[in-house]
Amino acid sequence: MPELPEVETVRRGLEPIMVGARIVKVEQRRADLRFAFPADFARRLTGRQVLTLARRAKYLIAYLDRGEALIMHLGMSGRFTIVPAVRSAAMLGDFHHAAGGDAAHDHVVFHLSNGARVIYNDVRRFGFMALEAEATLAESPHLRGLGIEPTGNALSGPLLAELFEGRQAPLKAALLDQRLIAGLGNIYVCEALFRAGLSPRRKAGTLAGAGRAAQVRAEALAGAVRDVIAEAIAAGGSTLRDYQKTDGTLGYFQHAFQVYDREDQPCRKPGCGGIVRRLVQSGRSTFYCPDCQR
Ligand SMILES: [Zn+2]
Repeated sequence: MPELPEVETVRRGLEPIMVGARIVKVEQRRADLRFAFPADFARRLTGRQVLTLARRAKYLIAYLDRGEALIMHLGMSGRFTIVPAVRSAAMLGDFHHAAGGDAAHDHVVFHLSNGARVIYNDVRRFGFMALEAEATLAESPHLRGLGIEPTGNALSGPLLAELFEGRQAPLKAALLDQRLIAGLGNIYVCEALFRAGLSPRRKAGTLAGAGRAAQVRAEALAGAVRDVIAEAIAAGGSTLRDYQKTDGTLGYFQHAFQVYDREDQPCRKPGCGGIVRRLVQSGRSTFYCPDCQR
C-alpha cells in the first residue's frame, strides 16, 4: 500500500508532466473503482488545464482551470505510468508492461496537450477519483476533518502535546488517528516511535503537560515523525529518477526500515542489544524494541 512518501513521490513525478498541460482526452474504461466515477467524468475533464498538483495526506489534488479539482487516491495498488510524447531509446519497446502492470487494469488514460499520456493502473481497485468544486474542497467527504500534515514545520513538540492532551489511547493509535495527524501509516509510525525511543503502548497523554520529561518526549516524537517522512520522501526522489529512466511507473520503492518487519532481529540502535518484537494493536502489526522504547 502506498504511504504518504510514495504519494508525494508520485506527485513529484507527475507534476512536470501534468502542470500547465491541458487534458485533451480522457479514456475512462470502467464505471467505478472503489467508488463510482463522478458523473460526466471524462467530459468535465476534457479541455481543462492543470494549474497545480498538490497533495493532502494521501490524496493527490489536481487544481483545474474553471474551478474544479480532481482528487485521486491510490488505494492499495494504484499506480501511474507516464508515457512521454517522445520515447527515449531506453523506453523503446513494451516498457509499460515490463513494469509488472497488466493493461487489463489500466482504468484511466489522460491524454495531455504536450503529447504525453498518464495511465492509471489499479489491480485491486481500492483507489478512486473524484471531482469537487475548488471552493468547497475542504468540506469534501474525503478531506473534511483531516489533521495536520506530518511534513514541514507544522508538527512541533508543543503542537503534538496539545493534540495528545488527556488521551488514554496508546501512542501507536494516536499517531494513526487521521483526525490528529493526516497521512501517517503503520510503517512510518513504527519507525518514528523507534527513532524517538518511545513505546507504542505508552499513553499518548504522557506527552502532554508542563513536565520537562513530557516536553522532551513530545519534541523527540515530533522530530522523529518529521525526519522519517522527510527521509522517505528524499529516498523516493532518488528512486524517481531511476523510474523515469526505466519504465515511467511512479510510486513504489523499498526502504531499509530500522524496525518495521524486523521481528526477532537485533535492534539497530547502537549499544542497545535488544530484540525487535511484534505486537498487534488495533488489528495492525507493531514492531518495536522493548529495551530502548519506553
Ligand atoms: Zn533497542
